[in-house]
This record gives sequence, C-alpha cells and structure tokens, in this order.
Amino acid sequence: MPASLDDFQVISTIGTGSYGTCKKICRKKDGKILVWKEMEYGSMTEAEKQMLVSEVNLLRELHHQHIVKYYDRIIDRTKAMIYIIMEYCEGGDLATLIAANKKNGESITEDFAWKILIQTTLALKECHRRKNGQAVLHRDLKPANVFLDKDSNVKLGDFGLARVLHSESSFAQTYVGTPYYMSPELVNNLSYNEKSDIWALGCMMYELCALSPPFTASNQSELNRKIRLGDFPRLPLKYSIELDMIIRKMIQVEVAQRPSIGSILADPLVQKRREALE
Ligand code: ADP
Ligand code: MG
Repeated sequence: MPASLDDFQVISTIGTGSYGTCKKICRKKDGKILVWKEMEYGSMTEAEKQMLVSEVNLLRELHHQHIVKYYDRIIDRTKAMIYIIMEYCEGGDLATLIAANKKNGESITEDFAWKILIQTTLALKECHRRKNGQAVLHRDLKPANVFLDKDSNVKLGDFGLARVLHSESSFAQTYVGTPYYMSPELVNNLSYNEKSDIWALGCMMYELCALSPPFTASNQSELNRKIRLGDFPRLPLKYSIELDMIIRKMIQVEVAQRPSIGSILADPLVQKRREALE
C-alpha cells in the first residue's frame, strides 16, 4: 500500500531551500525518524513533472551505504505537492560544517578528511555504475549535497532533483550561485563526463580542508581563467603531502590525467586508509 501523509507526523522544519522545504518527520507505525522534502509541482511544466518522476524513481533504485536512502514519495494532488521521504542525516551537510569551522577558526582532522574522501568516492562509484539514462550520471557534487549520519559517515544525497527543476537551460542553471567547482572542460563548454565529477570531488575535498575553494575570483571570467590554468595553493600545512597530492591529482586540467574512481580506490595510500576505517 502506498504511504499517505497520515502515516507521518511532522516534527520540525530543518530548512527551506530553493526548491522546497525539508522537514524532520516521524513514521507513526514504528517511530522511525525520517525527513521529507516538500515540493510544489503546480507551476512545473508537463515535461518537468515527467523528469521529476523519473528522477525520483531512479533515486529509489540507488541502494548504497553512502547514499541517502530514499523511502517513498507521496503526491497530494489537491495541493499539487510532492513529498519525497528519505533517510534523516543528523550530522547535517558539509557546507554547514565548512561554514562553522570558518567561523570558529577550526578545521577538520587529517583522518576525517580521508574518511570523507573515501566514502564519497565509494558513493560516486555506485552512481557511475548506474549509467542507465541521463539522470544518475551527472551528480551535482558540492558540500551542500554531502550529508553526515549520526556516526559522521558520508551520505551523498539531494542531487538531481534540483537539476530537474531547473531543466530548462541545463547548463547555466545547473550552477546556481558561483560555480567554484566547474571543471575546465565545462568552462570550455565541452561535455560533462565522469572525470568532471572527479574534479568536483577534488575541489570539495580541498575546500573541506582549506575552508576556501581551490579557485576563487570576484567575477566569472576571472574564475574561468584560474580554472583553465589550474594552479592553486598547497593545502594548509597541517595536512600531509599525501593528502595534498591525491587532491591535486583530482584537480588536473587535463581530463585524461585525472584519476578515475577505480584508480583512486586502487591507490595504495587510499587502500591503507580504507582498511583503517573498516
Ligand atoms: P537547499 O536548496 O538549501 O539544498 P534543501 O531543501 O535541499 O535546500 O535542504 C534544506 C535543509 O535541509 C538544508 O539545511 C539541508 O542540509 C537539510 N537536509 C536536506 N536533506 C536532508 C536529510 N536527508 N537529512 C537531514 N537534513 C537534510
Ligand atoms: Mg539541498
């Protein structure tokens, strides 16, 4: 039987984003804490609605320990609202963590950086494996889309949907806000590929440690210029040369030089760190 709104009780509002509101909810039958994302589809075109449905269906197929688990969706036709029910990540997202560390003059540990790097790579591997169709390949990888559970394990989530709702002009609108993680091939209007995700992963890891992105500028053309050059400072010295090196490999202008998910995971250093996690 499909779920209905009555099966849940709203506990609180977590936050309101550009596409809807995220609420913490309780599943009445067993008290399980989840979240739902409320989105209004009334103003969407038929094509956008179709894309939203197929995106949600795809997300439901992704089962991985480092990907936010999707539970269900409820459609309220009278209010033209869709509720997407998913796992609650009580550790919040990495964008919030970066902002808090910046504010307090703190920074993450080397061990935590490796853990995030490895677990995000594993989640991306699962996404890249599922290349059935357009949607799951292009992950909008950024700190706001990487969540932490209660044990500070990575849960990649909240991608896709935003893009679906902005499908009209796919390129410009994919990047709401400053596109700090845009890869050189995208800057040059070439097509997106799996290596563009690797670039974004490198940029995200860099920002997580350094608390500012590898490339910054006050305007788009200056940012584009820096991205095409691909020069950025070393990570703060509290981080090892090994961590700096692996991130540096991911942020390489030449697509062919950038490691694949497979070669990141095959790196002996990554393997050693991974064993320590397990
Ligand atoms: P935004 O456009 O800002 O990403 P969202 O609707 O995605 O807006 O998220 C709103 C807030 O809810 C953000 O603070 C986000 O971190 C939080 N959030 C989204 N999904 C989850 C989740 N599965 N668990 C916990 N918090 C979440
Ligand atoms: Mg979000």
